[in-house]
Amino acid sequence: MGIKELETGLNTIIEGNKGWMEFVKNDNTGRFQQLAKGQNPEILWIGCADSRVPANELTGTKPGEVFVHRNIANMCVHSDMSMLSVLDYAVNVLKVKHIIVAGHYGCGGVAASISRKQYGIIDNWLSHIKDVYRLHAEEIDNIEDQEKKADRLVELNVKEQVLNLCTTSIVQNAWSNGADLAIHGMVINIGTGELINQDCTFTSNDSLGKVFQYAK
Ligand code: ZN
Repeated sequence: MGIKELETGLNTIIEGNKGWMEFVKNDNTGRFQQLAKGQNPEILWIGCADSRVPANELTGTKPGEVFVHRNIANMCVHSDMSMLSVLDYAVNVLKVKHIIVAGHYGCGGVAASISRKQYGIIDNWLSHIKDVYRLHAEEIDNIEDQEKKADRLVELNVKEQVLNLCTTSIVQNAWSNGADLAIHGMVINIGTGELINQDCTFTSNDSLGKVFQYAK
């Protein structure tokens, strides 16, 4: 790619921003002046880094309404300091009421974790998805169609990441301190735009089993 093409790509963004500035200037509700002072979102969205699944556009929410963390395949890994820091800030400072783990059909990260190819350093990240595959290998391996296989793993992965969130010390402590906090799992169908609730909502650690019941 030549420097001219690079500049054209960047110009698209600069021009797009001019349109946004115009929109902000013409808004007479005062909300952008308010947002400039601080944020008070009620939702934390943990989604895939995929360019096709932007949190605000998909949910009809505006700037200031959703706190967002995205990584490859919307993973909640217990030792991931970036995810933990976002979670801690969202739960303990912003006091969000809902956390949504949002996967999507056609997820490249999930498809890659089913394949037996090596991709490089990302394999270490994909191993976390392979762990979910291992837990549900019997069900996944019984699906013949490669696309359906990956889509089922997308759903199972979302549920597993919801569980991972529930068992973090951050969520456990929030619940034991009486916080109103619900953790949901959803899957996006990019083709239709639908956000499909996976009915795996947790609002306390009561249903997590005795392994995650801590002594008071
Ligand atoms: Zn993805």
